[in-house]
Amino acid sequence: MLLEARGVETFYGASQALFGVELDVAEGEVVALMGRNGMGKTTTIRSILALSPAKSGSISFRGREIAGLQPYRIARLGIGLVPEGRRCFPNLTVAENLTAAARKGRWTVDEVNRLFPRLAERRDQLARTLSGGEQQMLAVGRALTTNPDLLILDEATEGLAPVIRQDIWTVIRKLKAEGQSILIVDKTLSELLPSADRCFVLEKGRTVWTGRPDDLTAQLQDRYLGV
Ligand code: ATP
Repeated sequence: MLLEARGVETFYGASQALFGVELDVAEGEVVALMGRNGMGKTTTIRSILALSPAKSGSISFRGREIAGLQPYRIARLGIGLVPEGRRCFPNLTVAENLTAAARKGRWTVDEVNRLFPRLAERRDQLARTLSGGEQQMLAVGRALTTNPDLLILDEATEGLAPVIRQDIWTVIRKLKAEGQSILIVDKTLSELLPSADRCFVLEKGRTVWTGRPDDLTAQLQDRYLGV
């Protein structure tokens, strides 16, 4: 397994958010991390990257235990994050954002510019002057230029105009076709399920269902994801 999380428990202060999350991603797989609001998806991602370190359990990446490492070291091992809320460096230009954490590999700045021509047009603009959609493209582009073995997308299409959402989904499908390993959280099931190889569903900080998208019946969707 590329990523394997077992029995992960994470706290915010005295308040426990994760109660034993089980999750794994194989090489080349697109895995959807699902669940209603507040069930622990973002906390799981933050635990993987040690932004909210797990208190117990094990998280391994390429067979190596990463729980306990500093976030920057985990990122350097090959995990790229597009965080919730499309965070870029606001006072750096588009080009600077893309080169800030770049590592050698298939995703050069030129390749990212080909993927998102709008970024190429705005290369010398400060990131904070971009539209929300452009900032999200930049967040995805920046994660790609680190050439991650595992790309993690947390609500990458949330709050974007429909056209931009489609652009992002097109990119996700292209990445999948290229064999990029992806862990993804997204509320748009109609786009997410056809792109996913496997799903993990969280409820109250626990993994309660794992399976293929085809096996996530309307009944299960209603039970675990309905509002
Ligand atoms: P959403 O879809 O709303 O982002 P989520 O599934 O990503 O939800 P988390 O954000 O991981 O859920 O939240 C899991 C639990 O941890 C919730 O009970 C939430 O209230 C709590 N929580 C999240 N962030 C914090 C924080 N910074 N401090 C305290 N509790 C938090």
